[in-house]
Amino acid sequence: PGVFEGIRCYGTPSGPAVFRLREHLDRFLDSIRALGIAGVLFGYDELRDAVCRTILANNFVECYVRPMMFFTGNGYMGLNIDKYEPVFAVAAWRWNDFIGADVRQAGLRATISSITRTRSNVALVKAKVSGQYVNSVIAKTLAKRAGFDEAILLDSDGYVAECTGENLMMVRGNTIYTSPSISVLGGITRDTVMVMAKALGYGVLEERLSLDDLYGADEVFVCGTAAEVVGVREVDGRVIGNGRVGSVTQQLAEMYDETVHGRNEYAIHWLDQMILEPLI
Ligand code: PMP
Repeated sequence: PGVFEGIRCYGTPSGPAVFRLREHLDRFLDSIRALGIAGVLFGYDELRDAVCRTILANNFVECYVRPMMFFTGNGYMGLNIDKYEPVFAVAAWRWNDFIGADVRQAGLRATISSITRTRSNVALVKAKVSGQYVNSVIAKTLAKRAGFDEAILLDSDGYVAECTGENLMMVRGNTIYTSPSISVLGGITRDTVMVMAKALGYGVLEERLSLDDLYGADEVFVCGTAAEVVGVREVDGRVIGNGRVGSVTQQLAEMYDETVHGRNEYAIHWLDQMILEPLI
């Protein structure tokens, strides 16, 4: 197994800055704990330092950052994690085309996956643990092969959970609905969107959502660090709303863009300018 994070750095009026780095690294540390790793290997300060130095060393302004921790066995092949040596690494690269410009513009076409989102009592629903992503990898691959852009996974009771690498939201009237965080990854973009939507005066409800809710929504959109905020125009041939990216989705996508680029009041709390202090 291994754990990983997915983070983005953006160009802002005061230089490159990492969006919600604290929350991402806290989740990374939570994921390590969820795996049951004995002893604290490193803390927030060391992680932040490694992430920032990786970005700065590559002279990136905008990039995606992937901290990861995995294990090397030195010949050991068993299942006891305590016998493995943990390895920590950070990768960073430009990744502006995670969602193509055409799909972002037109809205994506999604399919309901035959793969069930792991039950919350199985373990690690909220952690970014590599093994969990086998389901996401298969669901995404099969959706792409079938000509869709993304897969929507249902939970074990048949309610809408989330996508393979994004949380899912629905708009009906002036309210935005999303599945409770108990059955999905507690996405940082999901939280960002909820904060922004409330500030814009929308109601925000975390509720179990059925397929009927999904098909009857005025708008559906997905959100995640890599994808950002992207409208869904169709699910398995059923047109959502008017078949285009809806106006609320558009508004939130634009506000998200302003936010991550440090062009509004959220910059102070949510953007880390990567000013490094020497670590003792
Ligand atoms: N759900 C899943 C399964 C994911 O992999 C991701 C991406 N980390 C998300 C939701 C969105 O999370 P975030 O907004 O923190 O990137």
